[in-house]
Amino acid sequence: MKITIIYDNESTRDDLIADWGFASLVEAHGERILFDTGANGDILLENMKALGIDPHSIDRVVISHAHWDHTGGLAVFLKENKNVTLYIPSSCNIPSDVAREVIVVQGPLKITEGIFSTGELRGVEQALVVATERGPAVIAGCSHPGIGAILTAASAHGTVYALIGGLHGSTEFALMEQLGVICATHCTEFKGEIASHCPETWTEGGVGAVINL
Ligand SMILES: [Zn+2]
Ligand SMILES: [Zn+2]
Repeated sequence: MKITIIYDNESTRDDLIADWGFASLVEAHGERILFDTGANGDILLENMKALGIDPHSIDRVVISHAHWDHTGGLAVFLKENKNVTLYIPSSCNIPSDVAREVIVVQGPLKITEGIFSTGELRGVEQALVVATERGPAVIAGCSHPGIGAILTAASAHGTVYALIGGLHGSTEFALMEQLGVICATHCTEFKGEIASHCPETWTEGGVGAVINL
């Protein structure tokens, strides 16, 4: 699988715009999934263009949680490509006619072969779980439910191998140390501490970062 970060607080290249928020393209099991949409749709589309990602090539959009820095770009994206299946947690208030199909997620969900939602954890946020040969990879928006809850839910699909996304103020370093890949980006408060706890497995994020698993 391949994850490309499209929207992030930091950027890896001068021609890609950094802005507070998160979005990424997940390519796995024959699917192209947009996970979150950042805060601003124009920045989202600009970065997609610069990264050579055609909005019409996206089949599914997964929104992690209702916060503006993850949903803000959705309306502009859907204006470009409404022909997607949209997965929103039930705490996210989005009309059901904005996309080809809108699926409101509460419990754990199989999206397609090898790709799952943890379900809406603690009533706020879902994370995406993608099966890889080395174990599940988890893509998270802000990790508001806590990474303990997210990793526990994801472990229904095996021993979690990778965690990518915003980890907010998480200090659950012992859990992070068990992972094979950790890319703590977006709102993660303790990047330095996580990097020093996980020197072998730490992976830089930022717009334009590509993670192959
Ligand atoms: Zn956020
Ligand atoms: Zn948030």
